[in-house]
Amino acid sequence: MNPSNLLAGQTALVTGASRGIGRAIALSLGEAGAEVVVNYSSSPEKAEEVVNSIHAFGGKAYSMQSNVSEEQAVDELVKSILERSHRIDILINNAGITRDGLLMRMKTNDWQDVININLSGVFLCTRAVARTMIKQRSGRIVNITSVVGLIGNAGQTNYAAAKAGVVGLTKSTAKEFASRGITVNAVAPGFIVTDMTKELNQESILKAIPLGSFGTPEQVAGAVRFLAADPAASYITGQVLQVDGGMVMG
Ligand code: NAP
Repeated sequence: MNPSNLLAGQTALVTGASRGIGRAIALSLGEAGAEVVVNYSSSPEKAEEVVNSIHAFGGKAYSMQSNVSEEQAVDELVKSILERSHRIDILINNAGITRDGLLMRMKTNDWQDVININLSGVFLCTRAVARTMIKQRSGRIVNITSVVGLIGNAGQTNYAAAKAGVVGLTKSTAKEFASRGITVNAVAPGFIVTDMTKELNQESILKAIPLGSFGTPEQVAGAVRFLAADPAASYITGQVLQVDGGMVMG
């Protein structure tokens, strides 16, 4: 596989790209010709594997550790990218965690960790790249939310609140940045087979998916790549694109 020229000359930061959906997004953007910054929190070997896979097909990539919920770490991450690559054209806010439990028994830490990483992380990364994108007068931001943020889910009040927050953040940022040539959209996956979902009761969920199968990280990556690329998605901003096999309609 040779990288295409679709995103040639562009630098893309993908948060949480060491595993799962983020990994597939990194590979897809790398295959489209972007230089990919593979961000991770605690899996350096896995991040390096993603970088090596991109190099293997002739693409450009490097990895960078940073906890997206820590302001200083995020600002340093963006500073390091700018020193090395001199630009950031695409930001994919993908890093996320779950700490499930019924509200009555939810520990405050589990509430706070999910809000900090899944929602505040999106704010911090977006703010950190904004100045550069505004100066460039172009940019693409894609935030990974979830259908759970649209319809709620028992046992996931923290996660649903964070993901619903990402939808509001996406639309507000899209309005703020539109005049600067920057689009901001969200992708809302349904049930995708990754480490995050491996312990869920899969049989009951499968019945609720009209297309009759779980999604793959590559299927989410396809939607993200579409939203990141010119000119196909240049007139789309503030939208939430569901990739869920028809699980949630209307
Ligand atoms: P995953 O397989 O558990 O991978 C999570 C990724 O996020 C890893 O690369 C992890 O890095 C990174 N990460 C976690 N905390 C981080 C932090 N504080 N700072 C930086 N990176 C961090 O999860 P996934 O299923 O691919 O999910 C990716 C995104 O899609 C999440 O936002 C998730 O909420 C969303 N989503 C997933 C599904 C699904 O069905 N899987 C559905 C809807 C939405 P390390 O490897 O270093 O820990």
